[in-house]
This record gives sequence, C-alpha cells and structure tokens, in this order.
Amino acid sequence: MSELISFDPSTGDEVGRVPVTPAADLPVVVARAHAAARGWAELGLEGRRDALRPFGPALAEAAERIGTILTREMGKPLPQGIGEVRYCGAGLGETLDELVAALSPERLEDDAVISDLVFDPFGVCAAITPWNFPVSMPHWAVVPALMAGNTVVLKPSEKTPLVADEYIRLLREHLPEGVVQVVHGDEEQGRALVAADVQLIAFTGSRAAGRAILAEAGKDLKRVVLELGGKDPLIVLDDADLEAAAQFAVMNAFRNAGQVCVSTERIYVQDSVAPRFEELVVEKTRALKVGSGMEEGIEIGPMIDAGQRDHVIAQIEAARGEGAKVLIGGDPPRGNFVSPTVLTGVDHRMAIMRDETFGPVVGIQRVDGDDEAVAAANDSPYGLGAAVFGGDVARAERVARRLSAGMVGINKGCGGASGSPWVGARQSGYGYHSGRDGHRQFAQVRVVSRPKEA
Ligand code: NAD
Repeated sequence: MSELISFDPSTGDEVGRVPVTPAADLPVVVARAHAAARGWAELGLEGRRDALRPFGPALAEAAERIGTILTREMGKPLPQGIGEVRYCGAGLGETLDELVAALSPERLEDDAVISDLVFDPFGVCAAITPWNFPVSMPHWAVVPALMAGNTVVLKPSEKTPLVADEYIRLLREHLPEGVVQVVHGDEEQGRALVAADVQLIAFTGSRAAGRAILAEAGKDLKRVVLELGGKDPLIVLDDADLEAAAQFAVMNAFRNAGQVCVSTERIYVQDSVAPRFEELVVEKTRALKVGSGMEEGIEIGPMIDAGQRDHVIAQIEAARGEGAKVLIGGDPPRGNFVSPTVLTGVDHRMAIMRDETFGPVVGIQRVDGDDEAVAAANDSPYGLGAAVFGGDVARAERVARRLSAGMVGINKGCGGASGSPWVGARQSGYGYHSGRDGHRQFAQVRVVSRPKEA
C-alpha cells in the first residue's frame, strides 16, 4: 500500500489521497522530532504558549474549509464538521491558559523542607487517534503534549487522513521545523510508531488497540495515556422527567450516527415509566433526518465505512434472533446508512448490550428498582460515561455515585464543568487527559527540594 485513499462514506466517491509513510521511515521521522525537542523545550512554557496562541484564530478562520473536508471524509452533518474545527480553534486560548496554570512549577513546604514540583517534557510523543472526531481527537493530544515541551508525531486514523493533514499543515505554520509531524498509515504504522524511540504515547481508540499498545509500551515502560471505548448506560428512574430523559436518550444515542465514545448504548428504565418513555423515544427517533452530511437539515450521517456498518447490522440481527423487539429502525442498510434503531426486550446475554456498537442503535431494558438498574449498568468491562435521569436529585446522586464510570451526568450528559478531566474508568481508560491532573500526564513531574532555613 503506497497511498491511502479517502472515500466519502455517503457516496463512496474518492475525496482524495495521501502517501503512506513507510513503516521503515519512522525511526527517521522520530529522530527529526528528537532533533527539534531541545529548542522547543528551551522556549519555556510561556514561549510555547505564545507560539501556539495564533494557531487558535487561524484554525477558527479555516473552520469552514477544513470542516467541509471533515464532513466529506467522515460523514457527519456539515454544521457539526465545521463546529468541531471552530470549537478547537476558538477554545485554544483558554486551553493554553489552563495548560500554563497546570504545568507551572508548584511549591510545597513543610516545617523542614521546601520543594518545587516542576513539569518537564518526556521527549517525543506519539499521538495516535481515531476517525470519529478527526480534528478534536488529534487536537486534545497534540496541544497538551506540545505545551508540556514534547515534540509530537501524529498518526491519525487511516479513515480520515485528509482532515488530519490539513490540521497539521496549519499548525506547522506556527511552529519550528520538526516540532510536529504527521505520518500516514494504518495499524502497521501505529505499531511501528509505538515501537520507535518515543517516550510518551497518547492514544485514543478502541480497547483492543489500547491493549496492544500497552503491551508494546510495557517492554520499555514507556508512558501511555489511553482513552478507550465505552458502552455507556443511561438510567431512567421512575420519578424522571420523561420528556427530558427521552430527548437526551435520542440525542446521545444517535449523535454522529452513534459513533461517539460516550454514546448512550444501553438504557435501563424502571418498569412503571417504561411504556411512556419508550413511546417518547420512538416518537423522537422517527423525526430524525438521515442522509449525507453535505445536505441541509440532515441530523444523522452514514457509518464511516462498510466494515462498521456490517458490525452494527450484525449486532442488531443477532439481538433480533435472540428475541429483541425492534421498536423503530432495524431495516436493511442503504449504502453505509443505518436507520436509527431502538430495541427493547434486550438483556445482557446479547452482544448488543455488552460489546461496543458504535452505531445508531440503543437497547432499552426494563428494570425493577434502583439496585437492579445499578447492577445492570455496572455489568460491563467498560466504564467511560454514564447518565442518570431522576426527579429527586439526591436519589439520582446516590445512584450516580454507585456507577463505576469515569464521568456520570445527572439529568445531563457526562461532560464535567470546565477544568474537569476527561476520564474513563475500568477498561475505558488508562491515564486520562484535560483538567489540571490530565494536563500533567503529558509531563514528567520532578521534585526539587532544599532544607528550610530555621
Ligand atoms: P482503532 O483502535 O481501530 O484505531 C485508532 C487508531 O489506532 C488508528 O489511528 C489506528 O490506525 C491505530 N491503531 C490500531 N491498532 C493499533 C496498534 N495495535 N498499535 C498502534 N496503533 C494502532 O479505533 P477507531 O475505530 O479509529 O475509533 C473508534 C474507537 O475509539 C471506539 O472504540 C471509541 O469508543 C474510541 N474512542 C474513545 C474516545 C475517548 O475519549 N475515550 C474518543 C473517541 C473514540
């Protein structure tokens, strides 16, 4: 394979192509990153912030152009493609200020000792990213890695190389030579990058790839930050505002055609309110407009490719065969388009309630009481996000505290207030990013101490 061809998932047309980086060239690319590392580190935290700051407005200004490439290559509705790019650009200034605060030296002292915690670069960071948010996922890895003083080699998903290329091209205009580079390819290039002379691996992607990366990185005890898959539950308590719960369920199960790590994939609803809740979910699902992301008014785009589509359809069909009832959707796919599908009569013997779907499908299981809801929600190796909807907030909070997810939303999605980390529990993450402590995972903390004068 000498070129990666990028296809529009809505039409199958070629969008463009990029040359693949031969795996054998990776040591040279990484050596270039090492050569640039010293100068970049010596700029200091403020110097790096000043270099990066103009990239924010430049990215925001290019949002329409880059967002259009994003949508053509990945399929999400155009306003969301443009929005993703604009959000990264417009928010960069604030992110940089947060990073400066997180990575500035911190002084600790007791009766006898004064210590300064300083945050130093590891060296070269390999950033390996997925296709579902093909600008924000690279952005979330590259920016903190650079601010911590590392140089970066990005290997974006082989399914969205063009948009990643545009992102890096623009970023490079603001940085010295070699500070950030992009390599293209699939798992082969990813493996070669992990095995190369890199000191930190910031990976976002599937649990299976995360496991392989951790095993390889373990040979030299390289640092890793792994943001992995999920199987997020939503619990609907019997005192919930059902309208709001159904609204959230439909938005969060079908946004980006369900190709979101924190998509709602499993719903546990209490018996007494289940019929009305299901009715509302079906009604709202029926109103969704499915089609090419380039068309106006479209809310749900295609699956990224035929492989993902087949995986989703196979899970639906298997669940059906095991007795699940289709409330809406479930019809044969058209091209890479899968109709938003709501299943009921599901249970945890079915793969659709255990394995990540990453498609526009949600299973609703009826439960009897809070304990059964919590037990079902926790019956998963994943632990990324979760949500609880309930009228009595104290009760909903008690339920939320018993969920083994990294991020739990009460009457909302799982994202925290600004400054919160983005974190997966259990097998959804290994390390995490954002927020003060997340930013610090991109740096080596060192403690420099001296005796306190009497
Ligand atoms: P993937 O794991 O197949 O691929 C991700 C990246 O890793 C790609 O660039 C791929 O080429 C590379 N890769 C694959 N195997 C590798 C290996 N052994 N060594 C090195 N690199 C390797 O994932 P995907 O299909 O691109 O993305 C979907 C997954 O990402 C889902 O599981 C989703 O939940 C997860 N995700 C998680 C978050 C989060 O914040 N936790 C965010 C977005 C996506």
